[in-house]
Amino acid sequence: MGEISVRQKLEAEAERWLTALQAADQRIGRAAVALDWLLRLTETAESERLSKLTRSQLANLDAEIYAFIEPMAPAGSGARPEPIDRDALMRMALQLRQGITNLADGRPWSFHVTNLRRHLNRPKGSEIIKSGYSAEHWEAAFLMRAADLITKHGARIHRCALKACRRLFVRHKGGLYCSKACSQKERTERMKRALERKGESFSARRHLYYVHTLERQRNKAVASKARRRKKEGR
Ligand SMILES: [Zn+2]
Repeated sequence: MGEISVRQKLEAEAERWLTALQAADQRIGRAAVALDWLLRLTETAESERLSKLTRSQLANLDAEIYAFIEPMAPAGSGARPEPIDRDALMRMALQLRQGITNLADGRPWSFHVTNLRRHLNRPKGSEIIKSGYSAEHWEAAFLMRAADLITKHGARIHRCALKACRRLFVRHKGGLYCSKACSQKERTERMKRALERKGESFSARRHLYYVHTLERQRNKAVASKARRRKKEGR
């Protein structure tokens, strides 16, 4: 009886893990989304954001990382792979950030991985071959997968055009800014500059007008002082 409950417990655990993986795959499965997710992951390496993640956020991230690597190897056995700890995640995020930053700024990126296993599989009757990685440590597999995705779609990564921002983002439809907030800020700035220019020329024109009027009035005033005085006197 004890054996059965242990097996049931393991099966239930494997089931939960598979569900978590599928949910994670739903969240980050599309290439553009995955690329964006990678960028956000590199940002966790900044300013101790990682230490602020809640347990459930970390659990989500954990499932997303394994879903990203390709669920094939870990899900094949049904067993839950080693949980990802914050230190390893931080190391990996820093390494990834270095790479993505390098590429965005026109520098090369190379890295070293060890003990990597490649899996290829053609499911029966399928017209596609599935492939994935597994490694003694998830970091190697993760970096390989990240490099594959970046090779294919990474040219869409750009820096935000707002000088005060410069954040890396995945460009959609030629957008220049990382967020609505940044494009709004830039628009406001541009409007302000335009208004200032207009304001300058307006005040310059107004001044010229004032001078001309003054000259005209002075001539007139000289010509017909009495009338002006009469007017003023009213
Ligand atoms: Zn921005």
